[in-house]
Amino acid sequence: MKDWLERLRSDHPGHVELESLGTSPEGRDILLATVTDHSTGPACDKPAVWLDANTHAAELAGSAACLYTLDRLVDPDDAEAAELLKTHAFFVLPRVSPDGAEHVLETGAPLRSSPRETHGLRAKERFEPGDVDGDGRVLQMRVVSDSGAWKASELDDRILTPRKPGDTEGPFYDLYSEGRFSGSHRERPAVPRSRRGTDFNRNYPSGWRPEAQQEGAGPYPLSHPETRAQADGLLARPRVGALVTYHTYCGAILRPSSWEPDTAIDPHDLAAYKAVGARGTERTGYPCLSVYEGFRYRDDDVITGGFDDWVYNHLGVLAFTTEIWSLPTHVGFEVKDPLRFNFKGDRTPEQTLQIVAWCDANAPGSVVPWRSFEHPDLGPVELGGWDRMWIWQNPPLSFLAAECEGNHLFAMDLARTVPRIVVRSSRAQDLGSETWRVEVVVENVGYLPTSSTSRGRTQKTAEPVRATLEATESVQILEGDASFDLGHLDGASAVHAATFVDPTFFSGATRSTVGVAQWIIRGAGAVDVTIDGARGGVARCRIPLE
Ligand SMILES: [Zn+2]
Repeated sequence: MKDWLERLRSDHPGHVELESLGTSPEGRDILLATVTDHSTGPACDKPAVWLDANTHAAELAGSAACLYTLDRLVDPDDAEAAELLKTHAFFVLPRVSPDGAEHVLETGAPLRSSPRETHGLRAKERFEPGDVDGDGRVLQMRVVSDSGAWKASELDDRILTPRKPGDTEGPFYDLYSEGRFSGSHRERPAVPRSRRGTDFNRNYPSGWRPEAQQEGAGPYPLSHPETRAQADGLLARPRVGALVTYHTYCGAILRPSSWEPDTAIDPHDLAAYKAVGARGTERTGYPCLSVYEGFRYRDDDVITGGFDDWVYNHLGVLAFTTEIWSLPTHVGFEVKDPLRFNFKGDRTPEQTLQIVAWCDANAPGSVVPWRSFEHPDLGPVELGGWDRMWIWQNPPLSFLAAECEGNHLFAMDLARTVPRIVVRSSRAQDLGSETWRVEVVVENVGYLPTSSTSRGRTQKTAEPVRATLEATESVQILEGDASFDLGHLDGASAVHAATFVDPTFFSGATRSTVGVAQWIIRGAGAVDVTIDGARGGVARCRIPLE
């Protein structure tokens, strides 16, 4: 991937910059690609979208989505991208956890974030998913057990179903991922906490809770070099107005909050999240869900310390977590609640059979007949079942490009959604005796406010819009400071703040998207004004004194 990125930079020097935000513990660069049209100005002056991926090591399709967008952005035949890059920038970090992704690619074993051992976990009992029989894949493992909770499906022997209450007609099975145990008694193997349970997406500052309360959280927020580099990289780019962090599993565009109901979110921001998320649904087919309202792993607990929550809550930037790829959707199911349908087993045996049939036809080998194997820790077991990482967690390769395309189109939409400052008009009114009233009308033509969200305004994480008149030897400012503070300017999304949003009944302020800066000056020739538009980028104009 590093080679690919370096080639992208050398092939497109007018568009691509590449830098390392930091180094992983195993010594790999955490690479960030910046893409814009340098002939129209540097990336640091332009409103921007941030994309990243592979926070979770095995969620490799996210990296692919990042590389796909990079490839499309520099495609000389892509007129839409070329036009967008004149005014916008993209920051793309395809691999937050390069050590984790390399570990997965080398071993084929699933892994949450990083191959490092979880801090503070003195585990005698360990389980490590891995390829035990050397066939190059990590499948499932089942062991006959009178107390087993699983039974072979009557519809297809490769699939297990939960044992029904009162069922005494075995065989019943214990079910594991393929892997090795250590310290576990052969007769009663239990899966202990993973020794590599580090979860970067519990390590961000917003709502962070310690390891004992949330597995994988790490010893303190941003304790990992990778999450720290990512956070510092984002903080150093204050014009990012929207962000997507790519994950995989189940096809959903997730949004904050992970631990509060929607009623706790600013009404404008909630409406903007829903409107922008709906655009994402059109592009990808994934439903847009609040994690708290529609994507909770447990009814009695919430997730905190996640990246998108930090980006929204603390930085005030509209941030999404996109879970790429929904296998059931491709089979033909309309999945409104992917978490229940995919992970909680909330589907009929017939629906599962339809999924298996689709896999046999479209990704042969992803559901594998069980075969006997003498396991070094457990004795006789059977290996087979789902090749979960390559059929549920990541799309089969033949479906990858189509999946990336939908996400790419949403990323392009986001670039057209972020705030963008332009000069609507400018003039110099002659007051006589070489004295002039200089006026610049500034407009946010983006969808989102110059703070990205209302949260960004209240958190004061985005500087207000400021117009600065460059005083020179031939120009003297008589009234007002050189810098004129315009506050934050709304975007088109401000309509959501109206009481009635339906156009039939709408009557709200619509000019909050425009600001006016003025100065009284004495001088001759021309004056230059620079507008620093916060997350809306920088605009400049020259006003002749005539
Ligand atoms: Zn993930």
